[in-house]
Amino acid sequence: MSFADLGLSDELLKSVEAAGYTEPTPIQAQAIPSVLMMRDLIGIAQTGTGKTASFVLPMIDILAHGRRRALMPRSLILAPTRELAVQVADNFEKYGTNHDLKMALLIGGVQMGDQVKALNEGVDVLIATPGRLMDLFERGKILLTGCELLVIDEADRMLDMGFIPDIETICSKLPAQRQTLLFSATMPPPIKKLADKFLSNPKYIEVARPATANTNIAQHKVFVSNRGKRDALRRLLRSEDARTAIVFCNRKTTVRELNKSLKRHGFASGEIHGDMDQSARLAELDLFKDGKVNILVASDVAARGLDIKGVSHVFNFDTPWHPDDYVHRIGRTGRAGATGRAFTFVAPEDAEAIENVEKLTGGAIPVYQLEGEAAADSGDERKADRKPSRGRKAKDDGKSDGGRDEKTARRSRKAESVEPQDKAERPARPRRDGTKPPANTRPESQDEPGAWNGPVPGFLSVSALN
Ligand code: ADP
Ligand code: MG
Repeated sequence: MSFADLGLSDELLKSVEAAGYTEPTPIQAQAIPSVLMMRDLIGIAQTGTGKTASFVLPMIDILAHGRRRALMPRSLILAPTRELAVQVADNFEKYGTNHDLKMALLIGGVQMGDQVKALNEGVDVLIATPGRLMDLFERGKILLTGCELLVIDEADRMLDMGFIPDIETICSKLPAQRQTLLFSATMPPPIKKLADKFLSNPKYIEVARPATANTNIAQHKVFVSNRGKRDALRRLLRSEDARTAIVFCNRKTTVRELNKSLKRHGFASGEIHGDMDQSARLAELDLFKDGKVNILVASDVAARGLDIKGVSHVFNFDTPWHPDDYVHRIGRTGRAGATGRAFTFVAPEDAEAIENVEKLTGGAIPVYQLEGEAAADSGDERKADRKPSRGRKAKDDGKSDGGRDEKTARRSRKAESVEPQDKAERPARPRRDGTKPPANTRPESQDEPGAWNGPVPGFLSVSALN
C-alpha cells in the first residue's frame, strides 16, 4: 500500500514524499479514502500510530476547493492540549506547503489579539482547544455556522480533561450538514455516546491489535518490593543473558544510584538523565553503541530524541507514571525479526500506574515469576550497596525527571526542602473516585513533537515469553 493509492492529489503526494513518509500507517490507509469521500468517521488506534496525518492529509485536499470568509472558519479541529494543537498545526504546515490554506490556532496562553485578527481575515482551518474556543465564541468573535468539517482529536484525553460538555456545546453550534471525524486511542462509553449523538452513519475504523504471533516484544510484569528491585534486576540481567539493555527509571536520582549500584556489582553500565547536557548524553550513548557498556540506565526525558533502538531488553525499573511512556520505552527493543523482551517492575505503589498502562495497551501483561522470590531482599544487596564512607541515602532526594529546563529544575530543587517525595514535578495520580486528574498536569515532554518516531505496529499486544 502506498500513499498514491489513497486518492490524494499529486501536490499533496509531493509534500508527503518531501516529509519522508514512504508508506501510510494502517489507520491512514483506512481513514484517508473515507474522509476524501466525505464520510463521518471514527478512528480508533493507539498513540503513535499516525492519526494526525489521517485527517490532515485528506482535509488539505478537501479544503483546496472553496473560499474563505471572515469570522467563519471552514473547518475546525479540536485538540485537548496546546501542545497537541500545535502538533496538528505543524502537520498542516508541513503537508500544506503546496496549497493556499490559511490556518489559525486558538490556544490558551497566547495573546488573543492575533488570533482574532487571523479569524477576521478568514481561515480554512481553525485548530483550537475547547476552552479557548468557547471563550471566543461567547464573546461573539467567531461564527461556527460556516464550518462544514469538524475533527475531534484525542477524544479520550478530552474526556480525561473534562471537555465533553464543551465539545457538545461546540457541536451544537456547527451546521447540521457537516462532516465529523473523531479520533481516539480508546473508546470508553462517554466517547461512544458523544459519537452516537454527533456523528452520522460514521465509518468505524479500529486498527486491530496484531495477533500474538506477530508481536516482536514479549512483555512481562514482575511484582517486587521497592527494596527488592535492584536484586530482581541483577538476577534478570543474568538469567536473561541481556546483551543490550535499557533500564528506565522514573526519577533522575534513581538513575544515578542504580547505575552506581550496578557498577559495584560488576555490570558494565552507563547512565543518561536530565541533569546531563546533550553532549554528555550522546557521549554516554556512544559508549553503549560501541558495546563498552551494555546496560544503559535512563530517564524518559533523557532518552527522548536519542536513537536507541533494537536493544535486546528493556527493563522498567519503575512502572512509568504515564502509559504513553511505557509505549515509548518498550518500543526501544525488538529489532526486525528478533524478539525483544520488556520487563516492568511493579512495586505496591505502582498499582495504579500499571493499571493505566494495561488500559492503554489493551490487556493484562503476563506476570513473570522470579525464581526464589523470597530472596528478593537479600542481605547481599545491602552489603554490596553500602559504602563504608558514605551511607546510601535512604530516600529518593525528591528530584524527578520532570524538569526540562533550568527553571523547572530550580523549582523542583526548591521543592525538595519541603517535599520529601517529588510531588512538585510528579503528575497527579488518578483520583480516588476513579476519575483521572486533568491530563494537563502531565509534563510538557509528553507532547514533544517527534517524541515517538513512527507507527507502532506489532508490539502493543501482549505475548508470553517463549
Ligand atoms: P497519534 O496521533 O496516532 O498518536 P501522530 O499522528 O502524532 O500519532 O504520529 C506519531 C508519529 O508518527 C509522528 O512523529 C509522525 O510524524 C509519525 N508518522 C505518522 N505517519 C507516518 C508514516 N506514514 N510514516 C512514518 N512516520 C509517520
Ligand atoms: Mg494524535
